[in-house]
Parts: sequence; C-alpha cells; structure tokens
Amino acid sequence: MIPGPIEVDPAVLRAMGEVTTSHIAPNFIESFGNALKLMRKIWLAPKGQPFIIAGSGTLAMDMAVSNLIESGDNALVISTGYFGERYKNILATYGANVTVLQAEIGETVSLEKIEVELSSKDYKLLTITHVDTSTGVLTDPKAIAALAQKYNTLSIVDGVCATAGEETQQETWGIDVVLTGSQKAIGVPPGLALLVASEKAINVWKNRTTPVQNYYGSFTNWLPIMQAYEERRPSYFGTPPVNLIRALEVSLDLINTEGIENRVATHITYAKAFRKAVQAIGLQLVPKTNDIAANTMTAIYYPEGIDGNSFRKDISEYGVILAGGLHAEIKTKYFRIGHMGAITKSDIVATLSAIESALQKQNYNFEFGKSVGIFLSSLA
Ligand code: PMP
Repeated sequence: MIPGPIEVDPAVLRAMGEVTTSHIAPNFIESFGNALKLMRKIWLAPKGQPFIIAGSGTLAMDMAVSNLIESGDNALVISTGYFGERYKNILATYGANVTVLQAEIGETVSLEKIEVELSSKDYKLLTITHVDTSTGVLTDPKAIAALAQKYNTLSIVDGVCATAGEETQQETWGIDVVLTGSQKAIGVPPGLALLVASEKAINVWKNRTTPVQNYYGSFTNWLPIMQAYEERRPSYFGTPPVNLIRALEVSLDLINTEGIENRVATHITYAKAFRKAVQAIGLQLVPKTNDIAANTMTAIYYPEGIDGNSFRKDISEYGVILAGGLHAEIKTKYFRIGHMGAITKSDIVATLSAIESALQKQNYNFEFGKSVGIFLSSLA
C-alpha cells in the first residue's frame, strides 16, 4: 500500500511473463501501436503525441523540459513538495532561469500568486505537480493550465502520482505535456516513462533555434519511432522494453474497458471514505484541507507520542506495507499510503485494520474498529 510501485493486476503480471519477442516482431509492433493509441484515450488527448520510453518517471520529467526549454528561457515551478524541487533542478540543468513558487507544507500556491508571477515576465513554461507524493497535496491543473494559456506559457503536468487516478482532461484543459511513470496509477511494474505532448508543444520543439541538450531523451530520436509503431511499421532507435510495453498495453486496456471516468470516480470515492475513516479516529492529514487532498494517496501525521518506525513495523506484521515520510522538513513525523490503480475495498479495509491494531498496541486513545466501520458505511 505504498504510493508506488503499486501492486499490479494479475493479468498485467502474466503479460510481463510472456515470451520476450523481437522488438520488430509483428505481435510486438501491434502491442506498441495499440499502447500508444490507448494512451491518447486515457490522457483524453486525441490530438496529442504519446511517447513510451524505457526509463522512470524522472526521465519523462526530463524529456518534457529538455525538448521545450532553450538556455536562458524563463520557467516557473509551482511546488507543493519534494517533486517541485526536482523540477527546479532539472530546469536549471538545461539553463533555464527558474522561479519557484513554493507552497507551505500541506498547502497549494494560490491562483492569484501564480497570475501575478506569470504577468511579471515572459515565461516559456510552467510545471505543476498534480499530486506531490511527498505531501499528498492535490493541485488544480485545470485552473493553472487556463492561466498558462492566458499568458502564452506552456504547461507541463507531472502526473506521476496522478495520471489515471485523478481527473485529467489534457486536451480540453489545454495542458501541453502530461507525464507519468508506469508504476503508479497506470498499474505496471516500474521502468516506463510515459508522456503525451500537445500539438503546440510539438510545434514549439520543432521551432527551436538551438539543439536539444539531451541525447537519449530527444524528441528528434523518438518521435519517428512512435510514429512508425503507431502506423504498425518496425523501427529502431533504442531497444524498447518489450515485456513492459506488452504489460502496459494490457493495463491500459483494462483501464480503458473500465472507462477512465469510472476509474477516476472510484479513486475519489475510496479516497473520500478513507480520509473520513482516519479523521474519525483523530488522525491528521498533511494536506490542510480535504479539498486539496489527493485521491491516489494519503499522507498522515503520526499522532503525538507514536514512534513511526515501530508503528510501521507493527503494521507490516498484518501484511500491509506503508511508506514513511519523504519531505525533508517533516520526514519522521508522518507516513504515506497509496490507494491507486487496481485497488479494492478489501485492500483498504485491511490497511485500516492494520493501522488501528498498531495504534492500539502503542496505547493511542481511540474507539477500536471505528475507522473500518466509517469506511464501510461511507461506501454503503
Ligand atoms: N513525480 C512524482 C510526483 C513522483 O511521485 C515520482 C516518484 N515517486 C516522480 C516524479 C519520479 O518518478 P520516478 O521515481 O519513477 O523517477
């Protein structure tokens, strides 16, 4: 129950175990082409250009920026935690002049502040962390992308902890890049960097005046490959991870069959019920209000007097693994739970039971069984 890698559907695992075929074998060409087509559907970006590259989510972050930024461009990072900091570092690597709007821990940056900053100078692009996995804070990419469009700034959404779990309408909302990694709500083992670029982003890349300062991640190398596979033609730049891409096809197909709207709605229903359950036994979330709490994961402060390491170890004895803190300033003070992908009610019930049992062991004062009851009655 950590916020990624998540436990994947057995059908996805079985796909990973299929015979490794050639990257130019007809069955693989079909899988790659189909996975690209399914990405457009799940991203809700029918005119977008999908990329599937061997690498982690950080590669997708790196590609989004390195293909669009030229040295000396202004870039704005809207940071709600650890992964905003990462975007600052990536942008600086490619010579951008970076301004960071940093939210307080557990808060978002107000739209007013973002607008003041966008109107102060010409920004080439801005980055948004849809859900910052270090704080569990959910931002509003729809509203921020609308502001970006108003100021002719490209918008990049880091959806690593969000895409396929939080509502994202890339094309309708006018977002230029939505990126993720395979191991979160997409429901595939780690190893794939996934991104969809808008027509506008592709045009900005085409009209660059300086070369892309990235070899492996350059659109120049990968765009022809993506186009070829989508047209069911074999192609080669770097050997694609055939088993992972076949597993991606299976997982995207499962999401698409369920319907992305239904998949997101289930995340919201479970997350709301989960928050209500933990708050009912007195636990405090890192996000300051429920309307900015993620639906893919939850970050919770340990109650006063609870030792985090032994608490999480007690929980693991019930077969449930939770993550510790990630944000440097509060690292030892909170824990994190992922509830994304092919999650079931039973997984969440088991998690709440384990949390309650561990709290009781540490003599935390609460009504034993209450969170499980609240969770189940919220769903009834
Ligand atoms: N952004 C966010 C919001 C993340 O949660 C993560 C991974 N936890 C990343 C980026 C980086 O992804 P990866 O670890 O796959 O490189």
